[in-house]
Amino acid sequence: MTTVAVVPSSTAVSARMQRQRTTGTDPELALRRALHTRGLRYRVNRAPVRHVRSRPDIVFGPAKVAVFVDGCFWHRCPAHGTIPASNRDWWLDKLERNVERDRRTDALLDAAGWTVIRVWEHEDVTAAADHIEREVRTRQTGGDQTPASRASVRSRSRPSS
Ligand SMILES: [Zn+2]
Repeated sequence: MTTVAVVPSSTAVSARMQRQRTTGTDPELALRRALHTRGLRYRVNRAPVRHVRSRPDIVFGPAKVAVFVDGCFWHRCPAHGTIPASNRDWWLDKLERNVERDRRTDALLDAAGWTVIRVWEHEDVTAAADHIEREVRTRQTGGDQTPASRASVRSRSRPSS
């Protein structure tokens, strides 16, 4: 394996690199808030499967749903993905490898029984949260929270007459 030593020099690109964070980006936080508001509980930045190195941003363990919030630049969004003009080949190679790694991660998680949901950072938070909620609730059915165990709470009150 060769290490690519070219360091991007333009200030725009370095600014973009500095903004790149693995967790806690604004679109991700907004999505997490929306999911939390819906009563969904999740883990953040957990590896769901040991041999998968890419950690999903949001993990729903029991439902086996893994959510990635993908940056438009870093994951080559079809609408906003661009290749910087300086060091173009270096960027093209790097970004293509990001995308390939994404697809490998998807395949590994899928093979382990997980549902992978990828959300572009430009996507509408409400629509994304709707999609995720639907998926999580569907996949949670058959869990330990049966309707019968909830119904027993109501048996305390007795009819008054
Ligand atoms: Zn985009």
